[in-house]
Amino acid sequence: MEVSEILVGAAGIVLGAIITYVWRFSERAQETVPTAPAPAVPPDIRTVLSVLRSSALVMGEDEKVLRASAPAIALGLVSDDRLRSDQLLELVRRVRRDGEVREEELEIHLRRRPPIFVRARVAPLSHGLILVLVEDRTAEQKVETLRRDFVANVSHELKTPIGAIQLLAEAVGEARDDPEAVERFAGRMRTESERLTRLVQQIIDLSRLQADVASEHSVVIKVGELVAEAVEHSHTDAEAKAITITQDIQPDLYVLGDRAQLHAAVSNLVENAVTYSPDDSTVAVSATGDGDEVRIMVSDHGIGISPEEQERIFERFYRVDPARARTTGGTGLGLSIVKHVAASNGGSVEVWSEPDLGSSFTLVLPAWDVDEGEYE
Ligand code: ADP
Repeated sequence: MEVSEILVGAAGIVLGAIITYVWRFSERAQETVPTAPAPAVPPDIRTVLSVLRSSALVMGEDEKVLRASAPAIALGLVSDDRLRSDQLLELVRRVRRDGEVREEELEIHLRRRPPIFVRARVAPLSHGLILVLVEDRTAEQKVETLRRDFVANVSHELKTPIGAIQLLAEAVGEARDDPEAVERFAGRMRTESERLTRLVQQIIDLSRLQADVASEHSVVIKVGELVAEAVEHSHTDAEAKAITITQDIQPDLYVLGDRAQLHAAVSNLVENAVTYSPDDSTVAVSATGDGDEVRIMVSDHGIGISPEEQERIFERFYRVDPARARTTGGTGLGLSIVKHVAASNGGSVEVWSEPDLGSSFTLVLPAWDVDEGEYE
């Protein structure tokens, strides 16, 4: 045997010994490092969660979501094993602290989603687990809120034009020998009945909005078309007052939403701008996008709105000057429709106004990326 062969053999033995040692050491190391036991969700709870129609979650001690039912995920409550609502997380923490079962009604705002109203029930389970049951009551809440003051307002609003028509009908009867007076009263009856028709239509729009879930009817809409249609809607009124409506629309802006609702919202803003502007003035409609949002802005040089009134104009049936509304035909429902439409399409509405200078209303909606087929 040559010296080189002896050396190779010796090196092999040494290498083998080192590998054996390292392997043994790592085995021992594995035995000594305690592996944290994964907090298991008991099988019967897992079964219950899989059949539950409502949103349910099981939270572990590290505030991770260990298990979530399909509706909880669809509602957007969970992403990356985390609860996306701070309010729910706070509720879970309180239950963890004192072990008391809690039930609360919450308004939850999740990113890029309309707010949801939920009834959450949180209870401790064994092994430090917490069960969260969430019932989505958004639709019910909307209907309840509407019902609360709607009946009173509607009957009051309907009484005015109906009363006027009644009086005018009597006046026509008494003035049957005076054709000029009959014509005048008939004209006023027409105005009142138009007002009544508009009011009833807006009441129907609003109650549909409250009961409907917008996303069910969502389609991709080109913002330029939406604006053009809204401007066309006010064309006759603007012409009668010699008001020019300008349009400055960034091309290729799209939103995802309910077409009829969004049409009603933008039309209402343009209609208001024309109504509350003096003759021979200009109304400007612009649409811009910054990737995330689309901003549709309607600006006028009209009478403006004081800061105190700005807080209230989005309320149903609220009018700054009810006496003036008799001439403008205003119902006080337009802006509340705009606000509801914005909210149910994942957006919002902003107002800037200065008395005697003018107003700007901006409808902000999430931008839709047509190439990607998703929100930008
Ligand atoms: P209306 O049918 O009376 O126009 P809205 O809900 O659309 O009802 O508006 C509520 C109130 O807000 C109006 O009565 C008016 O006083 C005020 N308003 C709305 N838009 C404008 C505007 N562009 N300029 C001045 N005031 C406005």
